[in-house]
Amino acid sequence: MQDTVETASSAVIVAIDGPSGTGKSSTSKAVAAKLGLSYLDTGAQYRAITWWMLSNGIDTEDPQAIALAAAKPVIVSGTDPSAPTITVDGLDASGPIRTQEVTSKVSAVSAVPEVRALITDLQRTIAAAAEGGIVVEGRDIGTTVLPDADLKVFLTASAEARAARRSGELKGKEATDLATTKAALIKRDAADSGRKTSPLAKADDAVEVDTTDLTLDQVIECVVTLVEEKRAAK
Ligand code: C5P
Repeated sequence: MQDTVETASSAVIVAIDGPSGTGKSSTSKAVAAKLGLSYLDTGAQYRAITWWMLSNGIDTEDPQAIALAAAKPVIVSGTDPSAPTITVDGLDASGPIRTQEVTSKVSAVSAVPEVRALITDLQRTIAAAAEGGIVVEGRDIGTTVLPDADLKVFLTASAEARAARRSGELKGKEATDLATTKAALIKRDAADSGRKTSPLAKADDAVEVDTTDLTLDQVIECVVTLVEEKRAAK
């Protein structure tokens, strides 16, 4: 597997990592749109493969079964930050990948090394094809997927702030009380941080931004400034 990504010298590659509810997706999309960059949501890819496993009767507690099936689904990500898309075997997966069932199983599926190897390759191919540059958000982008990224940002926030933001996003029958949302979020972060293969982690050279007391606009502004500084220095 290649571990460096060749892009045009003017293209800027931005890695944004961090746990759930830190504002990664909203920030990454807005920064990419403002700066004319492509955008890749890597969490959506892990959710998509999880949805495929569930839809095809694969036991998500069985790493061997997951590893054997991992190469079967064809996952395609659209990288326009104003309208990102994700399909699995040609089907729009953007709705189904956000259900609680997928959210509760995704950490187990994404911990399987064969799944990570395939999805990491896909992510590097997409980043290399993004001629004008790209913002890639996830958990292991700065540490593993794109270790040579021009800018690495690690977003954090208190568990309370993250749970409040996440429960604001859940609607209708998916909504749960704050304590339940917080417990589920902490459990998923612990699984993502504790897995053996490329866990959720801050890269040594990442800029850490604590978003607990910042508005979304402030976080966007902060990251845009960091990207512009890197671009100017290229
Ligand atoms: O970002 P989001 O919450 O959609 O990510 C869903 C899950 O995908 C995470 O909880 C994690 O298990 C997995 N993931 C990962 N590596 C990434 C991005 C997401 O393992 N780079």
